[in-house]
Amino acid sequence: TMDYGPAPESAIEALSWLVDQGDCFGQFIDGQFTAPGTSFDAINPATGDVLAHLTQATPEDVEAAVAAARKAQPKWEGLGGPGRAKYLYALARLLQKHARLFAVLETLDSGKPIREARDIDVPLAQRHFYYHAGLAQLIEVELPDQRALGVCGQIIPWNFPLLMLAWKVAPALAAGNTVVLKPAEQTSLTALLFADICRQAGLPRGVVNIVTGDGAVGEMIITHPGIDKIAFTGSTEVGRKIRAATAGSGKSLTLELGGKSPYIVFEDADLDSAVEGLVDAIWFNQGQVCCAGSRLLVQESVAAPFHVKLRARMDKLRVGNPLDKCTDIGALVSAEQLARVTGMVAANGTGTTHRAACDMPAAGCFYPPTLITGLTPSDPLMQEEIFGPVLVSTTFRTPAEAVQLANNSRYGLAATLWTENINTALDIAPKLATGVVWVNAANLFDAAAPFGGLRESGFGREGGREGLAAYTRPRAHAKPLAPVTAMPAGNGGPV
Ligand code: NAD
Repeated sequence: TMDYGPAPESAIEALSWLVDQGDCFGQFIDGQFTAPGTSFDAINPATGDVLAHLTQATPEDVEAAVAAARKAQPKWEGLGGPGRAKYLYALARLLQKHARLFAVLETLDSGKPIREARDIDVPLAQRHFYYHAGLAQLIEVELPDQRALGVCGQIIPWNFPLLMLAWKVAPALAAGNTVVLKPAEQTSLTALLFADICRQAGLPRGVVNIVTGDGAVGEMIITHPGIDKIAFTGSTEVGRKIRAATAGSGKSLTLELGGKSPYIVFEDADLDSAVEGLVDAIWFNQGQVCCAGSRLLVQESVAAPFHVKLRARMDKLRVGNPLDKCTDIGALVSAEQLARVTGMVAANGTGTTHRAACDMPAAGCFYPPTLITGLTPSDPLMQEEIFGPVLVSTTFRTPAEAVQLANNSRYGLAATLWTENINTALDIAPKLATGVVWVNAANLFDAAAPFGGLRESGFGREGGREGLAAYTRPRAHAKPLAPVTAMPAGNGGPV
């Protein structure tokens, strides 16, 4: 058990935490950090600095992690819901105690603005553990006929590293499962800090195991016969591979994939609020959000004034040092992601690209807020997920056309509609083929609200009672049915 001392006031202190770890990490298997192996770098995308060295897991490491999780599982489940709740509360409290260290580390590792890491990612992760502690407390009452699945393999992306870990680990543990989790290779540091928190909380060995490395390690997890469920968040392309690889294996599966969520502005909307909502929808986390409102559909009658307001607001967004509290737009997660976004926008043939006139840092993985207008509905940029700070826009004339355009997507994760008319909202919302619809809002999340998609955005729900149920299966009858006793002939007997 280690004490991190007072909450760090600056990045220097978060970096010194890394150096104190020898800035070279092993993995967290069976309650202990292993010796570092073949390493790869954790890079700060805002500066290009190497933050730490991480271990690329070997098949033996994954084997050891699964074995530890298998061994720990019956005892963990046997603690019962209230017994497990105590640990989940302890994890939530420790996340709260070290909130600042988590936030600074997340910002250094991912490039996201500190304001978001501090006010959104870390508090939501805490809330997820508190909420699931409460659910664990009640699970025998709420889901009396369900039991744990066993060992869960969990593979998460780089856009919300700690929060996605919380979305995966908290419900799995609450339901009595043990886990082998792999963070994204771009952003593993807060998962390793979380491992240390597990140690501090006295979590039994093997309940949480964290292995690090790239997609090859992910493949070892999804194909491992000792794993009962795979939970994945990431690209639709990898999600498809995972579904194929797990087919016929008996593994449970939930997939949380991409999106191209519509943001619909009706002519009666409060346009200034709708612009602010759009800033949240598409420029939160540099647009690297699965449910980003990345497709603006604006009613033709207000399209011109709305675009004028939007472009004026875009120009005022502050792009720069993610550790600066005033920064709105930080760095994209990696040079690779920057190249992907740059390439997609450069390939735009028909639309008009408006880049925000804001000051840009001289170096680092930064990309300016961008709006592309004049695209047709079938244009690749209207259909494909860009996963960057790039908004595409088109217009509609009637509400029916808005619905038709909104649903013209292979995805179905989220949608926003903006209107002052409650009848419009209530009429349109159920017609949108998405897992979530926000009215006059965007990117609202709560641990109690199930989140998930339709179509190529995946299946299964995370959060709420449904999210917990996805980590359970029906309980086999505890007692065998009473044997049927032979009845004397002639009395009718049991039917
Ligand atoms: P990805 O899907 O390749 O990576 C997500 C996670 O899956 C990572 O932990 C990765 O190591 C792992 N992984 C990769 N290949 C795997 C395999 N074959 N088997 C098992 N696990 C594997 O995402 P990416 O390459 O980091 O990003 C590519 C695009 O994916 C982005 O541009 C974006 O469009 C999309 N994306 C979506 C989300 C989301 O939340 N829906 C998150 C990240 C990325």
